[in-house]
Amino acid sequence: MRIVDFRSDTVTKPSIKMRGFMLEAEVGDDVFGDDPSINELQNYAAKKFGKEAALYCASGTMTNQIAIMTHCSPGDELICHEESHIYRYEGGGIARNAQTSVRLLRGNNGRIEANQIPEQINPFDPHYPITRLVSIEDTANRGGGRVYDFEEIKRIKLVCDELNLKLHLDGARVFNALTINNIDPLSYGKQFDTISICLSKGLGAPVGSLLLGTKEFIAKAHRIRKVLGGGMRQAGIIAAGGLFALKNNIKRLNEDHSRAKKIGNALTDLDWVKVVWPVETNIVVVEVKDNFDEYEIVEDLKKSGILCVTFGKGRIRFTTHLDIDDNDVEFLINHFKKHVQK
Ligand SMILES: *Cc1c(COP(=O)(O)O)cnc(C)c1O
Repeated sequence: MRIVDFRSDTVTKPSIKMRGFMLEAEVGDDVFGDDPSINELQNYAAKKFGKEAALYCASGTMTNQIAIMTHCSPGDELICHEESHIYRYEGGGIARNAQTSVRLLRGNNGRIEANQIPEQINPFDPHYPITRLVSIEDTANRGGGRVYDFEEIKRIKLVCDELNLKLHLDGARVFNALTINNIDPLSYGKQFDTISICLSKGLGAPVGSLLLGTKEFIAKAHRIRKVLGGGMRQAGIIAAGGLFALKNNIKRLNEDHSRAKKIGNALTDLDWVKVVWPVETNIVVVEVKDNFDEYEIVEDLKKSGILCVTFGKGRIRFTTHLDIDDNDVEFLINHFKKHVQK
């Protein structure tokens, strides 16, 4: 049976070309700093965003967690959106790994605003944790792939600077955001103290994320990566997939975005759909009408070879990516057409 997989942009498999590039990668022991492919990837990514240094890690959870552990000490506090990945989807790592307290903000579609931050700062008084860090997500996954207005990011950075807070970007899908807003990574990079980027999502590499920051920050982060068991040896073989992805797979992200829009449009006509959230990037979220069950719909689609996921109560998410082409979208839309009951 034909299977089309819209569950996540993490399901992509390395292309033949990418595998070829990986096969040829020079490798060395990265714990000794000897892996030329990892060093090249780290330098390439750091430069792209105007940062001094980068650290290749096993996952985006690891880069986020290391960033939080490096910025914050036990008993400090960070500020993030209540739907953010660092809070919802990292196994309680803020508490568990960084022993850091968290102040959750509400905000439109997974995004916060600069003017929310000042009132969340704790007074310098022994009663309170010390507010240290703000973390934002761009694009915002739980917001349905929504993108920050760049001017808002600049305002957030200004507020953070004024209040002596560090600003971290969970940029798992930052290239989707940059593509939509047509912003160059250098001016974007300036707004953040640290940036996490995923190579294994829309960019299509099999493994890995990068943490970017100052040399001093990355030196500290490097120690923490080792403590977490994240020091890898000849990992250049997988890092090469990441370098290939950064060099070849960014330009095509707008294809994912236009396919997602098509899917969003097709969904609006269906009898079980209450509303389709605005589609900005590669994520489509729909709310299911009250008399339908999201789990049943996902199961039903699965029987026809269409994979997607529930996304909180009454919601379903479809994600486009490198391994979804126009035919796959056609397949999905035709399926919908057959099943509309008016
Ligand atoms: C996927 C994702 C991550 C990292 O997830 P890993 O699976 O650990 O690589 C971080 N933040 C967001 C917003 C994500 O979507």
